[in-house]
Amino acid sequence: MALVVQKYGGTSVADIKRIENVARRVIKTKQAGNDVIVVLSAMAGETDRLINLAHQAAADPDSREYDALISTGEQVTVTLLSMVLNRLGYKARSFLSFQIKINTDRAHKKARITKVDTRKMREELKKGSVLVVAGFQGVDEENDITTLGRGGSDTSAVALAAALKADLCEIFTDVDGVYTTDPNIYDKARRLERISYDEMLEMARAGAKVLQPRSVEMAKKYEVPIYVKSSFSDEGGTLVTKEDKEMEKEVVSGVTYDRDQAKITVINVPDRPGIAARLFTPLAEHNIMVDMIIQNVSVDGFTDLTFTVSRKDVKQAAVLVQEAANDIGAARVEIDDSVAKVSIIGVGMVSHSGVAAKMFTILAKEGINIEMISTSEIKISCVVKAKYTELAVMVLHDAFELEK
Ligand code: ADP
Ligand code: ASP
Ligand code: MG
Repeated sequence: MALVVQKYGGTSVADIKRIENVARRVIKTKQAGNDVIVVLSAMAGETDRLINLAHQAAADPDSREYDALISTGEQVTVTLLSMVLNRLGYKARSFLSFQIKINTDRAHKKARITKVDTRKMREELKKGSVLVVAGFQGVDEENDITTLGRGGSDTSAVALAAALKADLCEIFTDVDGVYTTDPNIYDKARRLERISYDEMLEMARAGAKVLQPRSVEMAKKYEVPIYVKSSFSDEGGTLVTKEDKEMEKEVVSGVTYDRDQAKITVINVPDRPGIAARLFTPLAEHNIMVDMIIQNVSVDGFTDLTFTVSRKDVKQAAVLVQEAANDIGAARVEIDDSVAKVSIIGVGMVSHSGVAAKMFTILAKEGINIEMISTSEIKISCVVKAKYTELAVMVLHDAFELEK
């Protein structure tokens, strides 16, 4: 008898028919003799709807109230699934994070899980119940509700699997695995049978939203194997696991894009020690993540500094950066939120040269201007105008022969 954690995303629980479909999968797993813990997202579109309401109520809603509101979508789906399972003759109980105790730090909207209490879950499993747990949420030390960042139910599922040492963590979604690029953008995308934690992590960080980056970090740390599967078919699947000798060491194994990017440029910054610290410290203090940073060579003691943040943070970031720019005597601040980041990822890059040059050449051939570049050992990212996103993904996918 194995312990299986199954997570179902928003499109998989979008209405009662689909929740019944989830129930059938859960029952099949239970009938095969397994203990099952189900983690659910809110119905598709529901978290967006709640976020929208929050911003109608207040331009800058209090983050404690905000998290308490946007976590409610998951309460609806977990209770509905439990009701359906009960109706079909299976013992099932829904749980919110405070009822189990999934503890997090106090960083609202992007909280990190610090501890999972397994006692309650083990008790319930012993009674033969299916546990249906709300994803995306936790509680902090004050018992206030926190949320784990968009897509956070993936992380809830991996955290439970790690804490309970589950045999399997299955992530059910609307595609049947992890592909060489988003199959909804390019129909030549190819499904990967297996992918290493490191490649998956880079892909997730670079925008492949099929798994939340933190879920992959956690899976790697606790060696939880993840199966990504479709909730609508039994075909396919991708195993995310430790790198091994059999895994293909492709130079490039995936192309990703991230439209959640905005570019901030500070013009004519005096080039002296402490300037970057003055610009970026307030952003860090407000929990705003800075992604790429470039600083131009200085001319006559002045330089331009450009960096990217998430589009949802750009308004707040602009205010903070403008204050800092006034302080340090920079000329002005420019904002561009019509950019996107396109990346290529592959563990084989470590031992191959010329990959970056090839990427730049391919983009140039299409007349796509590269506005920023960043690299890691196994990833090269370029910021381009957002309108070129699909084109860039397709030409890179073709050029690196990912289809075959
Ligand atoms: P869920 O609601 O189930 O959590 P998400 O929308 O968060 O689903 O993630 C699934 C989506 O991820 C797919 O519909 C697909 O458009 C997108 N995606 C982006 N990159 C990839 C990729 N490389 N492989 C598979 N899916 C991807
Ligand atoms: N419902 C949350 C969101 O839309 C969490 C999730 O779906 O994983 O981001
Ligand atoms: Mg998701």
